[in-house]
Amino acid sequence: MALLDIVIDPNPMLRGKAKKITHFDDTLQTLIDNMIDTMRDAPGVGLAAPQVNVPLRLFVAEFGDEDDDEAPKEVYAIINPKIVYTSREMDTGVEGCLSIPGILGEVMRPIDATVEGLDRHGEPQRIEAQGWLARIFQHETDHLNGILFTDHALSVWEHELPEIE
Ligand code: ZN
Repeated sequence: MALLDIVIDPNPMLRGKAKKITHFDDTLQTLIDNMIDTMRDAPGVGLAAPQVNVPLRLFVAEFGDEDDDEAPKEVYAIINPKIVYTSREMDTGVEGCLSIPGILGEVMRPIDATVEGLDRHGEPQRIEAQGWLARIFQHETDHLNGILFTDHALSVWEHELPEIE
């Protein structure tokens, strides 16, 4: 277990298209564990591999229930994620990013998103997400395509505390 350095914008690593993962070896397991530790330490609710200087299609996320702070949180590690469905209904929400410290912005995204990918052992997984979890999945998948939330934010502003992602 180790904390990884987070890549800060501007950095070309955040702008590249990450590569598909094909090997589910010990190196990958260690990377996932370290990304989860780094996300929790930051703290954040999501972290994509390019944010720790690894150009691979992988993100981790940790989220509970947006209506219940006491609800247990679930940890996700999604490899080669694909957003296979988004609702036509959109919503705006305030996002931040561990790679863009001190900045928040309002981003409009589909309310529902279904992601398909592989789990850490290479088994297929499909998650139908709503609300904040759907937002996290979309934000993190964007990272794998070199897209930052500030690229499509309706507005951005400076903020003292790093928040959300
Ligand atoms: Zn981010």
